[in-house]
Amino acid sequence: MKLKLCPNCNSEKIIKSGIINNRQRYKCKDCKYNFTVNKLGKKIDDYYVNKALQLYLEGLTYREIERILGVSHVSIMNWVKKYNIKRPYNVDYHPTYKIYNAEELAKFFQNKSNISGAGVLVTELGDKFMLIKWERFRN
Ligand SMILES: [Zn+2]
Repeated sequence: MKLKLCPNCNSEKIIKSGIINNRQRYKCKDCKYNFTVNKLGKKIDDYYVNKALQLYLEGLTYREIERILGVSHVSIMNWVKKYNIKRPYNVDYHPTYKIYNAEELAKFFQNKSNISGAGVLVTELGDKFMLIKWERFRN
């Protein structure tokens, strides 16, 4: 038997919730998402789960992560809970982030003033790159 997962948040805690148009309907106990059996199997790529949790640790809000990855903030909150992710410290400032293509990214690094006194993390995002930047010496 195939393992059933919620197509919205990957939770295994799904329950049957009636029949609609001759199709079995399910409800996810974690995110309350309703779906029919047709949607089963559209598992969210683990890549996005990892990415969402990574961004969460970088100090981004659920809504920001939703905007960047196109994954529901409810799903992200559930993953944070499911994997028991805790931020190791309170971020008192917010990292800034930008989405660049390869060419723009190269330009960014050519300008030394962009990266002096700062920490930078680059991560692939579809056909673009996301650059997260911290001002290291900011008070
Ligand atoms: Zn769910």
